[in-house]
Amino acid sequence: MSGDARGVETRGAAAGTEAEGGRSAGAATVTEAERAVEPVATPSPPEDRAGETGRSVREAVRGAPKAGEPEPQLAGRAVPGPQAPDAVRVQVPDPVFDVRDLSLWYGDKQALNGITMQIPERRITAFIGPSGCGKSTLIRCLNRLNDLIPGVTIEGEVTFEGDSLLGPQVDVNHLRKRIGMVFQKSNPFPKSIWENVAYGCKLQGITRRSELDEIIERSLRSAALWDEVKDRLDESALSLSGGQQQRLCIARTIAIEPEVILLDEPCSALDPIATAKIEELMQDLKNDYTQVIVTHNMQQASRVSDYTAFLYLGELIELDETDQIFLKPHKKQTEDYITGRFG
Ligand code: ADP
Repeated sequence: MSGDARGVETRGAAAGTEAEGGRSAGAATVTEAERAVEPVATPSPPEDRAGETGRSVREAVRGAPKAGEPEPQLAGRAVPGPQAPDAVRVQVPDPVFDVRDLSLWYGDKQALNGITMQIPERRITAFIGPSGCGKSTLIRCLNRLNDLIPGVTIEGEVTFEGDSLLGPQVDVNHLRKRIGMVFQKSNPFPKSIWENVAYGCKLQGITRRSELDEIIERSLRSAALWDEVKDRLDESALSLSGGQQQRLCIARTIAIEPEVILLDEPCSALDPIATAKIEELMQDLKNDYTQVIVTHNMQQASRVSDYTAFLYLGELIELDETDQIFLKPHKKQTEDYITGRFG
């Protein structure tokens, strides 16, 4: 359990020494992480919202953000403050993650400000909010992916099943096996479909072909991809469509048997049919995995999630059951956002 954290400082409850940020054994998720973490976040494409339909979104589109509109900025380090004191958050059932007063800075720029919330087990929780409000940063805190970004400072605490996630004692590689991640841009390796799914298992020391075949079939079935690829497992993963590639990445994540699947804008590059398949897949996986999804697409959040957290300018404004958030939010800011009064 050693790591190579680069410039990550962790303070607060888990405070102290340099945090670990392992890359060694190289679970598939870690490699994905390295590919996915970019120096600057990719903004959510505003034009995607135009395709949204339905009650809340019809209203939302009226006030949708203009393309090219600058993202709102959270105040710098000079004015860190407590969490929005009147944030509304419900007690969720069977919480697995407990986030307490979590703040994060990229250098001097504060991206999260005193987030306190819980995430329930075997349910789908969506993070919504305008571009740049900290959704991806927050989801990355749930499996320590921010460790891979130089100059990050974290205060506060996150626990997973009661154990601190942020402390230096955490075996980050083990953690990322338990908490897998699927990214906005599907990122299959330039290898065969079979090799892609087998990759993480091989790193875990599974070498018997029959065992790997079994895991691969089970994972591809779980990811609703088996029927489409069972006769072409030796073909390159890059020959698959975008939607199939994203489901392959989900299969690769599932193969190493995580408890949690984090999905950061998994459908933003997909067409509506591929998006529907991923959403259906999320429902199929719900009984077996805790899922957290970042989405800029409010209708997607309302369709797939059980709980929704609305973030704005790095703060949690409201966390509640999804129906409550979309039909009768407690906070005016939430209502203004879901009805499109600001983007
Ligand atoms: P969202 O997912 O809601 O669009 P992000 O979490 O990506 O928001 O970004 C929150 C803020 O942190 C933004 O101002 C963004 O520019 C900044 N940020 C995100 N990632 C990085 C990074 N790797 N380096 C520096 N700043 C970053």
